[in-house]
Amino acid sequence: MSTTTAPAKKDIYTPLELFGTDRLLDSDERDIAATVRKFVDTRLRPNVEDWFESGTLPKELGKEFGDMGLLGMHLQGYGCAGTNAVSYGLACMELEAGDSGFRSFVSVQGSLSMFSIYRYGSEEQKNEWLPRLATGEAIGCFGLTEPDFGSNPAGMRTRARRDGSDWVLDGTKMWITNGNLADVATVWAQTDDGVRGFLVPTDTPGFTANVIHKKLSLRASVTSELVLDNVRLPASAQLPEATGLGAPLSCLNEARFGIVFGALGAARDSLETAIAYASEREVFDRPLSSFQLSQEKLANMTLELGKGMLLAVHLGRIKDAEGARPEQISLGKLNNVREALAIARECRTLLGGSGITLEYSPLRHANNLESVLTYEGTSEMHLLSIGRALTGQAAFR
Ligand SMILES: Cc1cc2nc3c(=O)[nH]c(=O)nc-3n(C[C@H](O)[C@H](O)[C@H](O)COP(=O)(O)OP(=O)(O)OC[C@H]3O[C@@H](n4cnc5c(N)ncnc54)[C@H](O)[C@@H]3O)c2cc1C
Repeated sequence: MSTTTAPAKKDIYTPLELFGTDRLLDSDERDIAATVRKFVDTRLRPNVEDWFESGTLPKELGKEFGDMGLLGMHLQGYGCAGTNAVSYGLACMELEAGDSGFRSFVSVQGSLSMFSIYRYGSEEQKNEWLPRLATGEAIGCFGLTEPDFGSNPAGMRTRARRDGSDWVLDGTKMWITNGNLADVATVWAQTDDGVRGFLVPTDTPGFTANVIHKKLSLRASVTSELVLDNVRLPASAQLPEATGLGAPLSCLNEARFGIVFGALGAARDSLETAIAYASEREVFDRPLSSFQLSQEKLANMTLELGKGMLLAVHLGRIKDAEGARPEQISLGKLNNVREALAIARECRTLLGGSGITLEYSPLRHANNLESVLTYEGTSEMHLLSIGRALTGQAAFR
């Protein structure tokens, strides 16, 4: 007779309890997730409707994220927490359960701004910026996309030319998260030797950031245009180890990994909201949740959420063990954002008319996920990257 005891049976499970995905995590990872979830529930969630409606995110949140150890948390040294990749992913998931804007802030700071310095910077640049970026005392942004070059950054027109030992930068960057909050921008530019990266303090003469207004998505996030007009930088502003487009693309790969988990946070929150609503809401004299069509929706969404979580943890374990290949991260980003968006939209249908206001999260999450589907590589580009890995043929050129 087996001595193994089955876990106590409950009558009702949350979607991820049903999958039992917590069993894939160690106690440190579970603690990190629980701590971030509590912070999101007590500090961020009560304000998210106002921030989303007013189209802003307070800069002071940077210090609070820093106090939580969330900024550059997967990097070692320089004041960073040095967690594993799975823990970073779980933090992203909990943040995005609040709003994609919160996860975007932390992703851009840790995986784009800080990682670009950590991986490609000089020791002097690391010491100057990383400890302040880790505490949130300084904010960073990452300028790769341009008005005419998003999916194809190789065509970028921003140019850095030598003038004596200085560099002079001219060009425009578009859709830059945290652009108007940033103290330092990592800017990618063409030079005579190919693409290079530069650390641009945002108070440098000739640098301007303009907020992009009228967004329908990621409203609790600051998105900007960066204009570089004759921006003169010392030679020491160049990231010495970054040679070629592979450097910014490797930073994007770090941020994409956080999205693999993050998108599931938005999906989980949408699903839990819809289940709670459908259990309370009576239609035709019975709870909405008691109808077969409702339960089919809930069961199908739970399946996709759970499968996405299995994929995310699997990719995280690969990343922690040996580093995940870009195409593997593409599998996760493509699947989990696509499914999260479908889940958020389906949850909105269960909420009926109530689902179109900010009182309930699913449509806010769905709107946000439209941006998440597009940035860090559109879903089409990830399909093509997977296609190239399968066939050896690059169909996007
Ligand atoms: C809210 C937000 C925040 C962002 N933050 C940042 C940031 O911090 N830093 C930064 O550098 N960028 C940022 N971006 C930019 C983002 O990475 C780009 O929007 C994205 O890469 C797509 O580029 P694009 O908008 O120019 O679209 P395009 O490249 O013009 O693409 C338009 C459509 O064409 C498709 N397409 C393109 N090429 C092909 C092809 N070969 N075959 C088939 N279809 C194709 C695309 O998939 C897409 O559907 C952000 C964007 C948003 C919306």
